[in-house]
Amino acid sequence: MRKPIIAGNWKMNNTARAGVALVEELKPLVKNANCEVVVCVPAIDIPAVSEAVKGSNIALGAQNVHFAPKGAYTGEISAEMLNEYGVKYVIIGHSERRQYFGETDETVNKRTLAALEAGLIPIVCIGESLEERETGKTEAVLAKQIKEGMKGIDDISKIVIAYEPVWAIGTGKTATAEQANETIGFIRKTCAEVFCPKCAEKVRIQYGGSMNAGNCKQLMAMPEIDGGLIGGASLKAHDFSEIANYDKGGMAGMKLSKELL
Ligand code: PEP
Repeated sequence: MRKPIIAGNWKMNNTARAGVALVEELKPLVKNANCEVVVCVPAIDIPAVSEAVKGSNIALGAQNVHFAPKGAYTGEISAEMLNEYGVKYVIIGHSERRQYFGETDETVNKRTLAALEAGLIPIVCIGESLEERETGKTEAVLAKQIKEGMKGIDDISKIVIAYEPVWAIGTGKTATAEQANETIGFIRKTCAEVFCPKCAEKVRIQYGGSMNAGNCKQLMAMPEIDGGLIGGASLKAHDFSEIANYDKGGMAGMKLSKELL
């Protein structure tokens, strides 16, 4: 069974004070959500938001973690620092980190292994650019990101994978539900080949890229899609809650793995 996970990626938005106000507004709106609800906040917001989410069904996430336990890495944050504030999830390898901060599959891999070792749940982002999609390279790009970025993970179901086509992030262009489902199906198949079929059936794979209240139901109805990583629409409590409550009637519930069907 795969419990859907809807995670907000605030990126570099919201001061700690604004973040607490957003979470306070969000708490009553998502309290009956049938999925896991996560907010991934800027590092400096973590102490305040960690207090604000206490006693609620909102889990706390970070947007990055360093691979070394400590040391001369100016500007970086260690897993131990995140653990001290009850951080559960950490986004790793977001396309903006890859594009602007030199993140590679190798550093994604090191950060992911360090996060797992420290008991954090990595949300590892992968996805192709528009040019790669248009030239038929999507599968090769994703396979490389999986093989290199996730190398050495003993149980792939311990992480969350976010499939985020770079061309759909913050652009208002969403992959169609069928496109996203097919590509996520490919990611699951590759995980089965590279890791193990059982773990691949269990690993949660989110879609990310201009997901909003209007398109979330269609995307979430797809059998392979286990949640969403939400940027822009996570900055407004009402918009984000509409996504987290996509399954208000409880129709979808858990996603059953193929072996249980
Ligand atoms: C993201 O940053 O992970 C993302 C999906 O952004 P947006 O929802 O704004 O496209």
